[in-house]
Amino acid sequence: MTDVAADDQIAARMHAVGQRIATAAAAVGRSAADITLVAVSKTHPVSAIEAAYRAGARNFGENRVQEFVSKRTALAGLSNVTWHFVGRLQRNKAKAVVGSDVLVHSVDRVELLDALQSRAEAAEVNQRVLVQVNVGDDPAKGGCEVHRVADLVAYADGLSNIRVEGLMTMPPLPEPGFAPADAAAPYFAQLRSLRDELRARYPQVRELSMGMSADAEAAIAQGATMVRIGTDVFGARRDNLPSSAEVTP
Ligand SMILES: *Cc1c(COP(=O)(O)O)cnc(C)c1O
Repeated sequence: MTDVAADDQIAARMHAVGQRIATAAAAVGRSAADITLVAVSKTHPVSAIEAAYRAGARNFGENRVQEFVSKRTALAGLSNVTWHFVGRLQRNKAKAVVGSDVLVHSVDRVELLDALQSRAEAAEVNQRVLVQVNVGDDPAKGGCEVHRVADLVAYADGLSNIRVEGLMTMPPLPEPGFAPADAAAPYFAQLRSLRDELRARYPQVRELSMGMSADAEAAIAQGATMVRIGTDVFGARRDNLPSSAEVTP
């Protein structure tokens, strides 16, 4: 059964986020059509994803393999959906995220590329990935160190079933007293210049996945082509729910 009130709320939030993206893009002379909204649905039930889909969302992000798999399976009937895996990924879980309807945002090391390559080859898929960059050298964040990114992209370029389409980052949390957007802007600018350098050699390296609920405008101002928005689409995360309640059958 659909919960009409919850549906309306998600539709209203989707609309508001769309307006924010359009305003932020217009402010820097960009087209909103060049910015993909990835609705990060982690911890929210399948019914919430369906509500966002009805409100126009076609890109969904998850950060845990098990939750990613169960939601992608439960929602296999929705057409034109792209699933975005945005969390840390272990090599032995590579198979779970391989697919032509998937973009993996969190590739950060050679071993993971090798695992994705062999799974993608077996599945006869050209796996689209982004390289996650730890722009702030933040020990709490995943991602490849800045000085290793070029080597990692060069390595991926030699793999037959891997296609690096861009870069992703999560900047460090702001120091107390600093606005998230102000704190993040220099990191977003750094990711963009890294992307620009790589793109000169690898034209398919185009995407910049950066910006979340608190700092999407700053990311768009610095060239984001994908913003990953969770809270402002789905509301507060339901981390307290037992995992069985996360995915309704
Ligand atoms: C949860 C998450 C987001 C969304 O965060 P919000 O602040 O809720 O918008 C974006 N990116 C990644 C990698 C995440 O894990």
